[in-house]
Amino acid sequence: SENFESQARLKKYLGQMQAGEQILNIQFEMRELSGRMQLSTQSVRSLEIFENYQREQKGSLFHAIDRTKSSAGRRCLKSWLRFPLLQKAAIDQRLDQVQMILDSPNLKSLRDAIGRIGDIERRLSRISSPNISPRDLLSLCDSLAAGLEASHLSTQKIWSDQDLSVARFTVESILSKINEEAPVQLKNGNVIKAGVSPELDECFRLSNNSQELLLQLEAREKELTGISSLKVRFNNIFGYYIEITNTHKDKVPINRYERKQTLAGSERYMTQELSEIETKVLGAQAKRFELEAMLFEQLRQQILKSTPILLKLAREWAELDVLASLAQLALEEDYKRPQFISWDQDAHLEIKSSRHPVIEQSLEIPFKANDIQLGLRDCLLLTGPNMAGKSTLMRQVAITSLMAQLGSFVACESAKLPIFDQIFTRIGANDFLSEGLSTFMVEMKEAAEILNNSTSQSLVILDEIGRGTSTYDGMSLAQAILEHLLTNTSCMTLFATHYHELTELAHSFSNLKNAHMRVSEINGEVRFLHTLTQGAASKSYGIHVAKLAGLPKSLTLRASEILHQFENSKPKEKTPQLNFSLENLDSAGEEELKPAQEFLENMKNLKLEKMTPIEAMMLLSQMQQKLTGSDFEKFFNA
Ligand code: ATP
Repeated sequence: SENFESQARLKKYLGQMQAGEQILNIQFEMRELSGRMQLSTQSVRSLEIFENYQREQKGSLFHAIDRTKSSAGRRCLKSWLRFPLLQKAAIDQRLDQVQMILDSPNLKSLRDAIGRIGDIERRLSRISSPNISPRDLLSLCDSLAAGLEASHLSTQKIWSDQDLSVARFTVESILSKINEEAPVQLKNGNVIKAGVSPELDECFRLSNNSQELLLQLEAREKELTGISSLKVRFNNIFGYYIEITNTHKDKVPINRYERKQTLAGSERYMTQELSEIETKVLGAQAKRFELEAMLFEQLRQQILKSTPILLKLAREWAELDVLASLAQLALEEDYKRPQFISWDQDAHLEIKSSRHPVIEQSLEIPFKANDIQLGLRDCLLLTGPNMAGKSTLMRQVAITSLMAQLGSFVACESAKLPIFDQIFTRIGANDFLSEGLSTFMVEMKEAAEILNNSTSQSLVILDEIGRGTSTYDGMSLAQAILEHLLTNTSCMTLFATHYHELTELAHSFSNLKNAHMRVSEINGEVRFLHTLTQGAASKSYGIHVAKLAGLPKSLTLRASEILHQFENSKPKEKTPQLNFSLENLDSAGEEELKPAQEFLENMKNLKLEKMTPIEAMMLLSQMQQKLTGSDFEKFFNA
């Protein structure tokens, strides 16, 4: 009832804004969001779903996968992309339909028919206004006929026969009543076909008859006056008149002809007989226009009554357009049907020969496909140089999941995926300075949104988190975020970083998998192989990328020098050694032993399973401090 009230209020408001009958025909569509994923605007932006970072459509996912043929289909695909599904049955139903269209022999003719559907919603909304053109009805008729043809060609079992017969009846009504050559405007008549109404047919006869009378009058007057160029004409101001050029002015029978208008080269006259015929012609015509307008209005009202059903069909045809477009896409781009895995202990993600659908289409060289695997609660920590393809790989996992959940085939050899409740992405440094936020603040806000809202069934993608601040600040934040994801959220995560130090965490977290994008370096020449490989990357190649980007040679040489200095000045890390000497312990007196025993007792009783890594780290640091205190000194070798 709340919805009903909001609809009523909205209608009232619109009514006040734009009084008129149109308002009555507004259709409200409830969008059921409960079974749909609501991607955050941040993810929509960073996955470049509708536009790329330059705010252009080209380069977006939508642009790369849209093969729809109608504007309603395009709108529908946008909404499917914006709100992917969450239930396996619903997703599989769409995938089954795509498969069925792919398997049917008439994909091409089906898409041709869909291409002729046009925008039924817009056409129907025009028809809700009384001042439409007869041509609007003709285009609606073409649209409905094409839609009916598409329904006939599709092998789906989704059509209601009753709805289809309403559409068929509408098409037949328009075809049988409206003249195919109808003018743009209704007011000049010539809109309704003969045979539709006996009364109108009588008007046609009368006006045709009068036309005949006019022709006869013209012939007779030519003969009587001997003026062969005499003409009976009509204009909207004076109605009918006889026109005689000045050359024959003296032959005009003044007694019968009454002058109406003088022009430069001619005179216009009226006669009693012409005036009588004119009354007849104009009378018949007025009646005819009136009747045509009435019949047209009747037809419009009839169509208006069917609007809800026609709109429902329009939506179904739009969906058919999307399904056929996805079939066409799968065919053109060699996409494969994804399989879904339930969220139990064996849940995992496995994409064989995965590709990025947008980059793949824009590259001139072949895209290097990769196998990607993630177990339940796994985090793939991606390191490796700039330009190696880390962002691309991470995005393609998100995009593959998103496309699968909207019911599309995906860019790979095979894909087994869980159904994610959310896909969170934080990629690249978006510039929101115009919104008054610094780049780093945006980064942290986005990270906060992800950490606060992700669940164990979400997919989280973080690219270079913590880059907008000083190295140690950034690295500490990146590590803490990673630890939080691994321990608290435990969701499938892809995490790319330039902080190689983070790769060490793999020793503490079994779910953290190090991987990198392989690079080959032969005789100082670096080649990006775009191949996902297990293990952490060994080097960054930042200076190499700077060279590629065209920075002056002297500058990159200087950078190499500085890097060299840094590397040489780094203190060699010593493995911390804890040489606890039992001999010292044996020889110690009871008082001396007390703190050491307490220390060991505390350590024994630690509930490690209840501690977060951060708490453990803090405790360890406290212990370390204690151990360097004087009470313990003698138990350790220097
Ligand atoms: P950075 O750390 O600088 O962000 P990156 O490692 O994230 O770099 P990407 O931006 O993913 O690198 O990729 C850089 C370019 O490499 C892409 O624009 C694309 O042209 C190319 N590329 C990426 N992956 C592949 C691939 N699998 N096959 C072919 N080319 C690829």
